Amino acid sequence: MGTALAAKTNCPLCSSPGGRLVEQASGWRVVAIEEHPLPGFHRLICSDHVQEWRHLAPAQRQEIGEALAAWEHRLTEQWQPDKFNLASFGNVVPHLHWHLMPRWRTDPWWPNPIWASPPPACAIEGGWIGDWSSSGPAARVVRQAVFVQEQQVASEDEWDAWDAVARHAVMERDQAPVATGRLLSLGDGRARIGRMSVLQGHRGRGLGSALLAALLDDAQRLEFDAVVLHAQEHAIGFYQRAGFTTLGSSFEECNMRHQLMLKTLEGRHA
Ligand SMILES: [Zn+2]
Repeated sequence: MGTALAAKTNCPLCSSPGGRLVEQASGWRVVAIEEHPLPGFHRLICSDHVQEWRHLAPAQRQEIGEALAAWEHRLTEQWQPDKFNLASFGNVVPHLHWHLMPRWRTDPWWPNPIWASPPPACAIEGGWIGDWSSSGPAARVVRQAVFVQEQQVASEDEWDAWDAVARHAVMERDQAPVATGRLLSLGDGRARIGRMSVLQGHRGRGLGSALLAALLDDAQRLEFDAVVLHAQEHAIGFYQRAGFTTLGSSFEECNMRHQLMLKTLEGRHA
């Protein structure tokens, strides 16, 4: 046991924290993995250089098992995912550690592990729908113009961690992006449509309706029970025509009046 437990200088988990340290106990530590786009991604790392779970003493297994459950609970409360993934491999770094991964139905890898290649974007009428890696560059152009410049939304409000786990529809005209919107799982069977935007010179031509239809189709495909959104007051009628109903009274968000709206999805695609 003595040599197995000694720190190995060539082991990345013995010679460095392995992420941003967020909790340190005697037998383990938890680090946040910030270079990965998945929000809430953490690792729990055994303090000793041990390769296999069965090599730990029963008391150590008990302590780490409780810590894993507590962290799963904590990250689930914080991030409200659809599912929690807990994985231990050690094929690349043979020092016992677990990956703690909140997962969403709208994330790029769903339902596969986050190490899988995300599927390519899907064509829709006039554009495509995909994840942030395929849609982000185009969506950024539209959202920057509409929200940050035109509506004066603060950059820190506009760009958030949720883009990485949302589906993004993009519409183009003459090979330039002109409209976008995103669909994000709320982790409770509902998805939220947000960031709906059409460039100023392209409004009033049905792009918003086509975008909304594409996002609703995707929500149906992912078997959500309902879709909610925060409509800017001038857009309430637009969403009502698409089958959304208002819930409660209006509220202030990003210095604008908004209204919570909901559409129930019925049945599943054949
Ligand atoms: Zn090690």
